[in-house]
Amino acid sequence: MQANSQHLQQTEVSPPLLNYQNVLSPRKSDPRIQSPLFLADIGQLLTLQSASRKPDPRRGSDLKELGIIENAAVLCLAGKIVSVGTTKDALRDPWLKKNRKKVTEIDCADKVVLPGFVDSHTHPVFISPRLLDFEKHIEGASYEEIAAAGGGIRSSLDDVRKARKRVLAEKILAALRDMAAHGTTTVEAKSGYGLTVESEMKSLEAIRDAAKQWPGTVISTLLGAHVVPKEFQGCSQKYVEIVCKEMIPQAAKRKLAQFVDVFCEKGAFTAAETEQIFEAAKRHGLSVRAHMGQLSETRLQPFLRFDPASLDHMDHVNEDDIAELAKHDTVTTLVPGANYFLGLKEYPNARKLIDAGVPVALATDYNPGTSPTLSMPMAMSLACTHMKMSPAEAIAASTINGAWALRVADHKGSIEPGKDADLAIFSVKDYREIPYWFGANLCSMTVVSGSLAHPR
Ligand SMILES: [Zn+2]
Repeated sequence: MQANSQHLQQTEVSPPLLNYQNVLSPRKSDPRIQSPLFLADIGQLLTLQSASRKPDPRRGSDLKELGIIENAAVLCLAGKIVSVGTTKDALRDPWLKKNRKKVTEIDCADKVVLPGFVDSHTHPVFISPRLLDFEKHIEGASYEEIAAAGGGIRSSLDDVRKARKRVLAEKILAALRDMAAHGTTTVEAKSGYGLTVESEMKSLEAIRDAAKQWPGTVISTLLGAHVVPKEFQGCSQKYVEIVCKEMIPQAAKRKLAQFVDVFCEKGAFTAAETEQIFEAAKRHGLSVRAHMGQLSETRLQPFLRFDPASLDHMDHVNEDDIAELAKHDTVTTLVPGANYFLGLKEYPNARKLIDAGVPVALATDYNPGTSPTLSMPMAMSLACTHMKMSPAEAIAASTINGAWALRVADHKGSIEPGKDADLAIFSVKDYREIPYWFGANLCSMTVVSGSLAHPR
């Protein structure tokens, strides 16, 4: 653990450039403008600032750089982080001295404060847990056998197709709130359990409606290409045409999604179909990401020209592709919750990826079939115990590299002046306790855009 004797840093927006008068008299109509928030006496502040300050996803040994400050303080104003440093330096700040009474102060002694988690891979648009699948897994059926018997992704379709948008939005919002309670402040949310134009658009609208009621940040993804629905079995090309010519144009035109995702796998979509869908996404100005290498290896070269923000799962990756990925900013997002829930002995080879210089992120893959967890600390714990990532690497993969995987690293994923004031406060003295106490939620408070989103 390194102690960082960084001095109080102030942004370009600190006094006098920032108009404090406006901040201290918030307009009632804008709930995001809150009174200033001062976190003081923080036992360990994990800033995730990188010494190299390269505007790049974290790779190799940089992944374990947490930028720790002890006895630290963070000042947040108007939803942004304004200053970061030691409490001693913060208390000498003339602006703080003058305005201390107007500031909400939180004593963070014996606590760890870190950037709010960025969960860059979730499927929250579903109605019911898949309990029959759960039992079948326990009895020994494989993922493919359950899917072939009508379980798996297809079994969630009926519920979502029939559901009213309001009901879906309520389910999503409940999940988002639970995520915030576990320290997550930015979430990528995918559609993908409707698989008709109408129900995919309804799913994306439900994500939008839930996001409006949640203070955190939601990035939405169209996953119309999750699996080929039953009615297109044997003529998947017809379904791909619908994804490319109807779903993607509508989602783009109505600004319902920022990304297009494809499940590229045997039994789902081929590499050629994935390329076709990526081409359509790019034509309509949407960025791409994919489920890749979960059950079998797919060569990555044809996809890298689309500059995917992230390739996820990646249990099976070709050696030559690992070397290629190390040269790109495409993040490899590992989701060990799926391996855990499916009772797999093998996990993605995080060590090999990290040591080769591939930028790695962690996410929950929250979904009803293969990873019903929304806890990033649980994903981190699995990364440590089953993928041999160090606690420090797991934290960086869950914050700054998650932000890279969603292309929001310019304002999320680290605690530095000018970035969004999204923070998680854990009731532990040492950051290593976060993945250590697995299955427990030790997040005591979440700050989103400078406001307390989830005080416990
Ligand atoms: Zn997934």
